[in-house]
Amino acid sequence: MIYKELVAVYEQLEGTSKRLEKTWYIALLLKKTPLEDLEHLCLLLQGRLFPAYDEREVGVASRLVIKALSLATGHSLDKVEQIWKKTGDLGKTAELLIAKKHQATLAQQHLTVRKVFENLRKLAELEGEGVVDRKLKLIAELLTSASPLESKYIIKTVLQDLRIGVGEGVMRDAILWAFFTRELHILYDNRDNLEVVTEFDRKKYMEYAASVQRMYDLSANFGEVAAALKKKGKDAFGTIELEVGKPLKVMLYQKAKDIKDAFETVGKPAAFEYKYDGFRMQIHKNDESIELFTRRLERVTNQFPDVVKVVKAQIQSKACILDAEIIGIDPKTRQWMPFQNISQRIKRKYDIEETIRKIPVMVNVFDILYADGKTLLHEPFSKRRALIERIVREKKDEIQAARQIVTSSEKEAHAFYEESLKKGNEGVMAKSLDKEYKPGSRVGYGVKVKPVMETLDLVIVGAEWGEGKRSGWLSSFVLACRDGIHFREIGRVGTGIKELESEGVTFEKLTKLLKPLIIEEKGKEVTVKPKIVLEIDYEEIQKSPTYGSGYALRFPRVLRLREDKSIRDASEISYIKQISPRASFARG
Ligand code: AMP
Repeated sequence: MIYKELVAVYEQLEGTSKRLEKTWYIALLLKKTPLEDLEHLCLLLQGRLFPAYDEREVGVASRLVIKALSLATGHSLDKVEQIWKKTGDLGKTAELLIAKKHQATLAQQHLTVRKVFENLRKLAELEGEGVVDRKLKLIAELLTSASPLESKYIIKTVLQDLRIGVGEGVMRDAILWAFFTRELHILYDNRDNLEVVTEFDRKKYMEYAASVQRMYDLSANFGEVAAALKKKGKDAFGTIELEVGKPLKVMLYQKAKDIKDAFETVGKPAAFEYKYDGFRMQIHKNDESIELFTRRLERVTNQFPDVVKVVKAQIQSKACILDAEIIGIDPKTRQWMPFQNISQRIKRKYDIEETIRKIPVMVNVFDILYADGKTLLHEPFSKRRALIERIVREKKDEIQAARQIVTSSEKEAHAFYEESLKKGNEGVMAKSLDKEYKPGSRVGYGVKVKPVMETLDLVIVGAEWGEGKRSGWLSSFVLACRDGIHFREIGRVGTGIKELESEGVTFEKLTKLLKPLIIEEKGKEVTVKPKIVLEIDYEEIQKSPTYGSGYALRFPRVLRLREDKSIRDASEISYIKQISPRASFARG
């Protein structure tokens, strides 16, 4: 398949925000894609070069793209930057520059999907000396044979910044529409944005959708799902099975207001467990071979040889898949460390032995999905838990089954919740005893109960001009708290801001308010006079040298614009100091 066909669909997708329309365009493309290109195509449609569980990264920054554009088009770096500033988007910049060049040379070949995919993947695989130079050449080479529009999407893919709104739901439905168009009587009328299925078909549609979703949950790879369906139609349902070594999507949990609410969702009696403040790890053991994945299915085996070792020694099952929460243990005090202290271990590629000494971790196993040749997804939780207790040979501060009680009593559950918080945990999880494990779903088979956080009122002191869809708008905002008459930075926020005025505060509105307040502009960064107050929600307050306040917010999000508040009403640093220890384990 030629790359141009994919690019035409990218353009269609960029041109609409309607979900059904997107689904239809992708479905049409999938239908005509030959089997050998399907896997690549599904990844490229999502702006990816690897499935989530593959840890390789393209690792190309804007700087390098600017250089490649200069090399491929003969324009100076300054010129490229100038256009970038105007368009706010390097993809668009590539399109403009390559268009100019084409008028001059018209040298063009037909790029294939395979060629683009393979060259871009090479970017991630290059290693050793002169990597940057070789990456530069690879990108420039592709650009030389690309049309202006093709260049736009090559650059967007290189920068992992496709933004055409193809989420998992759209991909799943597009696959369904592509391979079962007739069977499900799928008619789509572009003009009315209507998906027409009869009542009878809707039921069948839901069943088919669930089967396709299940294939994806178990493989985490749409390419594999599409290829299987193209080959075998509905005979492929259920053929993707759990495989040790290949990660599957994790089950997610809903939020409950309090213990009473938790019981209402999960029933009585229920299991209550500590909600450890660490990060989730999916552990695959196949004899001596261990693989570790994060909740986003990134492979982290190499970063955690200590976990590999303890799993090998303490798990009494030949082959299994475990769901666990990893927490850090302070080597001096033996206290549990909050998440921020261990998060650095996830990315750590060097000096691993030393980091293990500084930040040892403990594995808390809370679920099991597979053991010794048998899938356990459909077993009730109580049975899965019993198996955990059988196969996890506990070792102090290294590995254990998540601390659990089973109760019908609110009083008892409350006491357990208090005990958990005292230990520095985030709260508790409440789980139904009789429910299965649903990969990828936020079903109410388990809920979390955590204390509610106090929000902060923070002042905007800076911002950054946006790119792509957000060009022309300020899109990332520097927040500050009050320290007497001074303002001290505490973080940056870009989430929680809405597209429509009716939904809340928009980029447009903030840009309008801030533009007259700009004091200084440096590249894309602007400094503004403190005037605008935002109410900010966050997951955690961390001590951090990055910002002037000495604190940083983890996952801040804008709740609302507080036009009723003046900068004198902004949260004081002393208050932040006071709530931060609580806020560091009472997340969200
Ligand atoms: P949240 O990240 O707030 O949505 O809460 C769910 C997360 O809590 C899971 O994804 C796990 O990483 C974590 N967690 C900690 N302890 C447990 C536990 N005992 N059972 C399930 N999840 C847990």
